[in-house]
Amino acid sequence: MLVFKFGGASVKDANGIINLGNVVKKFDNEQLVIVVSAMGKTTNALEKLTKAYINSDDQLTEIFDEIKSYHYTIIEQLFEPRHQIFNEVANTFVEIDWVIEEEPHEDYDFIYDQIVSIGELVATRIVNAYLNQAGIKSLWLDVRGYVQTDNTYREGIVQWDKTCVAISKDIPTLLEKGQVITQGFLGGTSENFTTTLGREGSDYTASIFAACLGAVSVTTWKDVPGILNADPKFFEDTVKFDELSYTEAIEMTYYGASVIHPKTIKPLQNAKIPLLVKSFTHPDEPGTIIHENAAGKFEKPVIIIKQNQVLLSISARDYSFISEEQLSMIFKLFSQYHLKVNVMQTSALSFTVCFDLREEWFKKLLRALTADFKVKYNDSLTLITVRHYSRASLKELTEGKTILMEQLSRNTIQIVVK
Ligand code: ASP
Ligand code: MG
Repeated sequence: MLVFKFGGASVKDANGIINLGNVVKKFDNEQLVIVVSAMGKTTNALEKLTKAYINSDDQLTEIFDEIKSYHYTIIEQLFEPRHQIFNEVANTFVEIDWVIEEEPHEDYDFIYDQIVSIGELVATRIVNAYLNQAGIKSLWLDVRGYVQTDNTYREGIVQWDKTCVAISKDIPTLLEKGQVITQGFLGGTSENFTTTLGREGSDYTASIFAACLGAVSVTTWKDVPGILNADPKFFEDTVKFDELSYTEAIEMTYYGASVIHPKTIKPLQNAKIPLLVKSFTHPDEPGTIIHENAAGKFEKPVIIIKQNQVLLSISARDYSFISEEQLSMIFKLFSQYHLKVNVMQTSALSFTVCFDLREEWFKKLLRALTADFKVKYNDSLTLITVRHYSRASLKELTEGKTILMEQLSRNTIQIVVK
């Protein structure tokens, strides 16, 4: 059996869903678990809706109507007006009505997951109905009964033992009856609440199913021909890698390459399951394969751009040295406020860290730090990471930019620029 993952861009409109059907048809001799994300930019829109609800913003209804009409426009193009999908979609959206009828609860992350998860639930209803209509026998599966997490909302930690027991108990039998369509990005707690696995987490879902079922491979279908050495949004002359090792892929995602969610690779590496990254518009092209025995040749450097970075310097109020105790206190705060350190540097009197801006958490961190330390920061910065770099390529990358921090190792250089 194979695991497929279709991201938001692949199902952003009616044609995308028709194309998904055509790709799946090519594999009608195979058993497939098909993991689908929310359509287009729905997750962003649902995040906006969650914020509007929490802030009792007047725009709430407008935002919700827009999300609904986006989905209705798509299903009107794909189905006859009497098709049951219209009811299924309406019934799924009603779950948001139930949440927003109540006064906002104080746990923002909990509410976020209950609302934002609707994107995947609706998308999979639509894809499932479309595949069946197109003559591909498929079954809709509620992933929340299978991917079990703790109750860290927005960043659910997968409980592997329970998850694998549930998946391997039911899914093989379901696959005898048809292709299984399920939601990426979502999980369920032992009290049956919905969690999410972190933004862009659908790849991780695909890898969880593959690892628990011992799949032959995972394919993530993308709007790019495979993994490129740099993001074509920022660079011309990119090259595609035919193959990469698991380790290289882990390094790339760690530094912020957004083609694959960082948690995806490890379960596949442990189970030795290859990951294919392929184009959903050119499904017969080979794409990139990530597997154990990839040749480690890099004719071009791998360039990873991370925007929206904060560079924060922390020093003691009395100009004393930053001690190990203080560092451990600082790291504790970063972990408590869900801020992930991308680069760090210590000097005698200060400790400097670069991390992704997550506004709500950053405010909390600042408040906590200023109790004991002096802090200074710059935001709206860019972190450029280059693996397998050459001196010449670095010069080009940093031309005309102010370098605020630089760190170099044998294979990797990281530069924070303005
Ligand atoms: N829909 C979710 C997101 O946009 C999960 C995913 O796309 O993988 O973050
Ligand atoms: Mg997505």
